[in-house]
Amino acid sequence: MKKKMKIHINPPPQDRACEVCGRKDMKPFGKAGDPLVGDFNGALLVKIFRSMSPKQTKWKVKGMMVQGRKLTKDEKKEYNTLYNKQKIPQLNWKKEIMKDMYTIDIKLLSKAEEKRYKILDKKHDNSFSHLDEEKFIEKYNKQNLEDFWFHEQLANTVSASWECRDCIILSEKDYFKKRNERFEKRRKKNE
Ligand SMILES: [Zn+2]
Repeated sequence: MKKKMKIHINPPPQDRACEVCGRKDMKPFGKAGDPLVGDFNGALLVKIFRSMSPKQTKWKVKGMMVQGRKLTKDEKKEYNTLYNKQKIPQLNWKKEIMKDMYTIDIKLLSKAEEKRYKILDKKHDNSFSHLDEEKFIEKYNKQNLEDFWFHEQLANTVSASWECRDCIILSEKDYFKKRNERFEKRRKKNE
């Protein structure tokens, strides 16, 4: 008999410990609404998505932000049409958490559409408040600009995190604090 294939995306940690506090003897989740939307009754760990890095505070960018020009009405319409053409819905197996998640596949556009989309996308990006890179380099130099963007990218990238019911409700700030405390403890122990 053939074995059924089972695919796990972001499987739970092998040691079954909370990835934030490291506990294994945690209280199970309660019924719907406790403490999250969704029914995880009895589960010890629940997966959520967290930023890979806290928002950066190392570089002061106040006064370095500029507001770009918004797309015109027609450009916006064109942009949305092209954008929607590439949308692929994500697995929706944790509806409450994965809500509105999808990926973009630019290959679904024709060459001409792709070219146009990239122009509009850049314009769209620049329309938001964004960093004046020249000002930044003047103050912090070029290497720091690279570090800044690297950090920004991490802060804007999410990864799966398996957490107990005490940790899952932590704010971003408290999450990183708690996690770092644990790493620090472990580091000291291994010294
Ligand atoms: Zn925990």
